[in-house]
Amino acid sequence: MADDKVLEKNGLYYPPQSFVDKAHINSFEQYQQMYKRSIDDPEGFWGEMAQGFHWEKTWDKVLEFNYHRSKGPISIEWYKGAKTNMTYNCIDRHLETRGDQPALLWEGNEPGEDRIITYRQLYEHVCKFANVLKGFGIKKGDRVTIYLPMIPELAISMLACARIGAIHSVVFGGFSAESLKDRIVDSKCSLVITSDGTYRGGKAVTLKQIADEAMDHSEKEGVTVPKVVVVERVGAGKGIECPMKQGRDQYWHDLVATAEGDCPVEWMDAEDPLFILYTSGSTGKPKGVQHTTAGYMVYVSLTHKYVFDYHDGDVYWCTADIGWVTGHSYILYGPLLNGAQSLMFEGVPTYPDSGRFWDVVDKWKVDIFYTAPTAIRAVMRMGDDFVTKYSRKSLQLLGTVGEPINPEAWRWYNEVVGDSHCPIVDTWWQTETGGILITPLPGAIPTKPGSATLPFFGVQPCLLDDEGKEVEGNGVSGRLAIKAPWPGQLRTTYGSHERFETVYFSDFDGFYFTGDGAKRDEDGYYWITGRVDDVINVSGHRMGTAEVESALVSHPTVAEAAVVGFPHEIKGQGIYAYVTLKVGEEYSEQLKKDLVLHVRKEIGPIASPDVIHWAPALPKTRSGKIMRRILRKMAAGESDFGDTSTLADPSVVGTLVEMKGK
Ligand code: ATP
Ligand code: MG
Repeated sequence: MADDKVLEKNGLYYPPQSFVDKAHINSFEQYQQMYKRSIDDPEGFWGEMAQGFHWEKTWDKVLEFNYHRSKGPISIEWYKGAKTNMTYNCIDRHLETRGDQPALLWEGNEPGEDRIITYRQLYEHVCKFANVLKGFGIKKGDRVTIYLPMIPELAISMLACARIGAIHSVVFGGFSAESLKDRIVDSKCSLVITSDGTYRGGKAVTLKQIADEAMDHSEKEGVTVPKVVVVERVGAGKGIECPMKQGRDQYWHDLVATAEGDCPVEWMDAEDPLFILYTSGSTGKPKGVQHTTAGYMVYVSLTHKYVFDYHDGDVYWCTADIGWVTGHSYILYGPLLNGAQSLMFEGVPTYPDSGRFWDVVDKWKVDIFYTAPTAIRAVMRMGDDFVTKYSRKSLQLLGTVGEPINPEAWRWYNEVVGDSHCPIVDTWWQTETGGILITPLPGAIPTKPGSATLPFFGVQPCLLDDEGKEVEGNGVSGRLAIKAPWPGQLRTTYGSHERFETVYFSDFDGFYFTGDGAKRDEDGYYWITGRVDDVINVSGHRMGTAEVESALVSHPTVAEAAVVGFPHEIKGQGIYAYVTLKVGEEYSEQLKKDLVLHVRKEIGPIASPDVIHWAPALPKTRSGKIMRRILRKMAAGESDFGDTSTLADPSVVGTLVEMKGK
């Protein structure tokens, strides 16, 4: 059916008619109307959006805030006076209507290893573990560090904490002992939950020994963790050790075996903390971003419903790790609040081969698929065959988050993965924002490859110039800031409100500053150009990294590119491009020349790279983002690259050094 395709007209992509017909928000006018209302009357709008939840007590006031440091401490309060509980809203509220419906669909690392957990079963698991926590004396406000792979116990632990009012601090299972130690020390947690090990591709690796090392070191910094719970994920005979410390460490299965299957919830104040999550550290020392209960709950539920156009019965899959905010908001909380079936994937996109994503999509008949540009580029690099050999018939919507998506990768995602019948939502947001802020609503907002398009309800983005003055109109660029609070916003950074105010509210009085640069095109669409700190200034022309990278990636031989500035005698800064080629392409001097010409043609002479540096792989954070800090140092000819321990694969750096000048 011709009208069942995504249609392109003058650079805008429109959703298939069949998608529009069933969409919650199904016209641009409806989006505009609701958006206008959300801005004109935020309290009325957000009061209404909070209706479907269980409130033990309703609020006295929807919103109270101060965004001006010049007028006193920054404060943001939503639904003040209300009492509720996140876990109650995620599970208990659904028991009557969907107790036997799957809540979590778990796909293990090995194909064929899986588990389905219904809402009722989840209730029981969570209550049991909540009772275990209480047995340890954990109470409201205590911090619990969770260092687990993508197994159901991770979700259960978080929900159990939220049930009794403990604050979870999830640390991504790929982090080193050093990173884990920093997070244990900063949060002064009373408990660590970990596992014996985890799988990386086909291989079992230890987690417990890393956790032990982290706790040994935290002790030296004055933080002793009294209790440790260990999930047996790998088990004996797989070549990993799981030393247990007497009096401190206990196995999960022993503890829950005797625990009660019911546990009353702790009613929380709207602004009581729900969790701390340390940012991924692309730019420096991670910050303990603190989110609270009621506003976060309403915001992640509503964005999950509208951005992914979620309908009852849809199978929803976000491929992120729960160790990142994407997993908190859009694997666990948002989907469960909406009574969804949320797929949780333990493995990686390349194991057992590069077709795993689509194998899983077909197996579970996934309707909605949400991933990151880094994963899209990785599978794209391996060729289309890995995708096209699977049917992918169930897919209705595709999403992306984490970095700007290059238009070339966007088109590939649309045409090859989505067979041109799935709208794509490019969602811009941050750990700090709790949920998606700039995004298409798929049935209402036509998309442009590479643009996150327009603000979600209640979100007021703006662009600021160097002096902090708002840049009005369209066809402009600047620093991306937000003018007023939205319910999912962070409230503080753990342990230091001062740090929170300095990082986000001191550059521009009266604005939340995101740290990102953006442009607003003639249609008012937003394009994230990269982090402001990464902007390159060539002969007085300021350039975001995203544009030059996208131009490179649009060359047929290029899989991925990272661009940084380097000191240049004449221009002030020159453009230095690291380029990864597609599988099967070969390095040559001629290709370097072709790439430079290609960028000149795509953007203009000002953007011509001065140096092309072949990169078999790029240094990335463990969440898959390119770490430009290291690339900048290498381009400048430095040999000390600073802390490389937060890289997913530190050996990439050595390989890159060897490739210099080749
Ligand atoms: P840190 O703040 O510790 O340096 P981080 O910013 O990488 O780490 P996250 O909160 O995970 O940690 O990432 C948010 C950032 O990711 C955004 O500020 C933006 O730079 C980038 N980003 C996320 N989604 C998009 C998107 N759809 N388009 C462009 N950039 C995006
Ligand atoms: Mg950030």
